[in-house]
Amino acid sequence: MVNFVLAGHDFGYEVQTAIQIFFPNRHYYPAVSVPPEGMVVKSVYTENSAEACLFIDGAPVAESVLDHSADISEKDKKHIIKEAVFNVLSKFTGYTPKWGMITGVRPAKTASELSAEGLSDREILEYFTGRFRVSEDKAALALKVSRAEKEILEENRPEDMSIYIGIPFCPTRCLYCSFTSYPIDRYAKKADEYIAALSRELRFIAENIKGRRIRSLYIGGGTPTSLSENQFEALIDSVCGNFDTESVEEFTVEAGRPDTITPNKLKAMRKAGVSRISVNPQTMNQKTLDIIGRRHSVEDIKNAFYMARAEGFENINMDLILGLPEEGIEDVENTMLEIESLSPESITVHTLAVKRASRLKENIFSYDLAAADDMDKMINLAAGYAEKMGLEPYYMYRQKAMLGNFENVGYCRRGCQSIYNIEIMEEKQTVIAAGAGGATKLYDPVKNELVRVFNVKSVEDYLARLDEMLVRKVKAFSLNRW
Ligand code: SF4
Repeated sequence: MVNFVLAGHDFGYEVQTAIQIFFPNRHYYPAVSVPPEGMVVKSVYTENSAEACLFIDGAPVAESVLDHSADISEKDKKHIIKEAVFNVLSKFTGYTPKWGMITGVRPAKTASELSAEGLSDREILEYFTGRFRVSEDKAALALKVSRAEKEILEENRPEDMSIYIGIPFCPTRCLYCSFTSYPIDRYAKKADEYIAALSRELRFIAENIKGRRIRSLYIGGGTPTSLSENQFEALIDSVCGNFDTESVEEFTVEAGRPDTITPNKLKAMRKAGVSRISVNPQTMNQKTLDIIGRRHSVEDIKNAFYMARAEGFENINMDLILGLPEEGIEDVENTMLEIESLSPESITVHTLAVKRASRLKENIFSYDLAAADDMDKMINLAAGYAEKMGLEPYYMYRQKAMLGNFENVGYCRRGCQSIYNIEIMEEKQTVIAAGAGGATKLYDPVKNELVRVFNVKSVEDYLARLDEMLVRKVKAFSLNRW
């Protein structure tokens, strides 16, 4: 637990997010005064300075004072308060985070926005490294990704939109998972009802988007291929029956878990025009697959990949996670060597995030997790392999509670970018989501604003309240420009 005390301001969010950079996965509580025990950050704002002091068991152990001018803006006031806390914790821990004070999830989007405001590349880099104390390599990464995203975004037409279809079933629950996902063996019957309800929602969406072009269509989860072959075919039939999949520029299925991929499901996808699939190993080390709760072998991953190749898939993505429990740099090296030999068109390299609703979080002290320095080495190692494989960074996002406060990066061969991933990160296009937990984003290009419309998360609620979800969508469609 970390307490914080505010004096002269009430920007608790800024103070808490600065603390989270250095001490993730704790509880953070505001206090009115410094308690005699535990770790406490006191943040004081006066008319000419922002100060932060760290107390351990009531005694001050580190301090930072930043002077400012009297007529400071609200935005700068928040910034300097956060910076003082950042300074004091960096001094105390001896740790300089690579992303500096950045706590947002979309640094490449920030770079794109600065570029749209007319800043040069040099000025954008200086913004990151100067104002936010980001390291030069991470600032360069944000800029590089924003350039790659721009190539795709420039092709957006006003009538374009994307569709996301969520299938919340999986074979087992992974140790680090925080999604609402249901074990398919216990929910097989419910999955039938789910496909029927989802088909209704897809028909409703199709009727409401006439005249629009679907630029990307994404079936994700969960694990869509955890459905039985019959259920999966019913899903694909419904998608093809409702949307003109032939004119869709990108059609992705996140096949995900290799033990759910069969030749018949691959054939159904090929027939429907699926252009991109994911086969997600996360790691190529058997001991780690066992720890994270996968019920398949490394060999199964390779077989699923070769099966997809044999069926003619020429754009295969593989998701990886760095910092999985008990993994060190040698394990990551082994994973990257195996992935290199498979030669997928893209890889998405995640940093492990310890999410609140995960089994990992519940049993956090049972596992040996990598320190920030080791994470940095693993991330650099994976980036080096990506380069060797001819893959370039093209999209990126950050999450709360990531080990070392690092990032997730998608690398791909030229021309194999996932349009959907970029659209979802840059938020410059309407994305309509169907299924339990779906978050629709209606983008207003004139106001440059998003309106979000949420579906309920649980499968039971979705089945019981589908009509209500459709009414929500109708209202949002009619009240907003998108
Ligand atoms: S495959 Fe993904 S959604 Fe399914 S349990 Fe694992 S992390 Fe969760």
